[in-house]
Amino acid sequence: MKRLIFLGPPGAGKGTQAKILASTVEIPHISTGDILRNAKAQGTPLGLKAKEYMDRGDLVPDELMLGLIRERLSQPDAQAGWILDGFPRNVTQASFLDELLQGLNQKYDCVINLEVPDEVLVGRMLERGKKEGRTDDTPETIRRRLEVYRQKTAPLIDFYSAREQLVSVDGNRSLEEVTAELKQLFHR
Ligand code: AMP
Repeated sequence: MKRLIFLGPPGAGKGTQAKILASTVEIPHISTGDILRNAKAQGTPLGLKAKEYMDRGDLVPDELMLGLIRERLSQPDAQAGWILDGFPRNVTQASFLDELLQGLNQKYDCVINLEVPDEVLVGRMLERGKKEGRTDDTPETIRRRLEVYRQKTAPLIDFYSAREQLVSVDGNRSLEEVTAELKQLFHR
């Protein structure tokens, strides 16, 4: 395996797990949230446009995201493989990704769905807000992000399971247990 997509609600641990797995198997971890947060911190045109959506807990418009992911997946380091974390977030992005990968002559190996109950998610995000100071980890924005997840992103579970490309992983366990299962899956 060398191309994986991580799916799951905000706070499921996608970023943490994707980072660990990517560094273990030595392929790039591509997080659209990280790319946007960097752009925002640097005050680039993309960052300035993305800021208002991110601060509200809404999705950044597709016209910004599609170009961003095309550019990132076309870079030399991404040719060896990748773990995508935070993209796609809706059906338009998923269809775009299919076309893009076809054009790049790449194919993903599987989609991992990290499952965590809502009440656990909220607690984790509130804690992260305190620890890391993420400006979108506030009670109001967390509520909005979960709503957006349910409306726009959760339909991707059906999108990918209809193609038998979805593997569900119980994310409501210790960090180490989840990492162990993901590593096992990767090497299967
Ligand atoms: P994340 O770190 O993946 O939770 O992303 C943080 C925020 O960045 C999200 O709440 C969105 O505002 C924005 N974002 C990240 N990835 C995407 C994407 N694929 N499409 C639209 N917005 C995104």
